[in-house]
Amino acid sequence: MINAIAVPAFRDNYIWLVHDAANRTVIVDPGDAQPVLAALAHHALTPVAVLITHHHHDHTGGIGDILARYPVPVLGPARESIPAVTRRLNDGERICVPSTSMEFTVLDVPGHTAGHIAFFGHNTLLCGDTLFAGGCGRLFEGTPVQMYCSLQKIARLPETTKVYCAHEYTEDNLRFAAAVEPNNADLRARIAAVNQLRRNNLPTIPSTIGEEKRTNPFLRCDEPDVRAAAIAFADMPPESADQVFAALRSRKDRF
Ligand code: ZN
Ligand code: FE
Repeated sequence: MINAIAVPAFRDNYIWLVHDAANRTVIVDPGDAQPVLAALAHHALTPVAVLITHHHHDHTGGIGDILARYPVPVLGPARESIPAVTRRLNDGERICVPSTSMEFTVLDVPGHTAGHIAFFGHNTLLCGDTLFAGGCGRLFEGTPVQMYCSLQKIARLPETTKVYCAHEYTEDNLRFAAAVEPNNADLRARIAAVNQLRRNNLPTIPSTIGEEKRTNPFLRCDEPDVRAAAIAFADMPPESADQVFAALRSRKDRF
């Protein structure tokens, strides 16, 4: 049994503290150390490892100050240059978090960055800036086809999987989703629920894979309404699902 605590950082980041019943904790993507150290003390959590999904500063900037206080292993992507990483992870690798019963499988999910990874285990997906609630990450280093394939890989996980992404972008993402699929009833219900959470200043995360498959346009590129929206957006009519994805992603960049 594991649990996750959201530590808000910067403007809209979440740093996740994933812990077991004995409060042994993995720190996921600590862009900033101060709020993490405060939350660890407040919840009486003992850090045992840091997990990193990709190299961006808002996911790695706090590693140094956390290690100064807690010298724990740092597990991160093999194909990105992150000096603090002590164990470099490849696709399909299974990791056992030291001194806990936590186990995760590493998934290569390139697109946002070239070597981005995600962690899957205990009905939980830690996916950084790849899949967002209602959206997906920008393509800084990868191609649309790479990101499309990464999202399809994630979509094949069990529908009940809880999705922990690293930013509170959900309201904006769902505004775009509603422009793509104005007649999606699941999406309308989700927007109402998300607006309510945000009015109360609560996180909209985690979602589930099932919820994302029903409401996130980037996982719905085969749906006729999504395809029709992509045709309306694109200079050239998209043919394959990955071209639908590319048209949506480029439109979202300017939305
Ligand atoms: Zn990023
Ligand atoms: Fe980020």
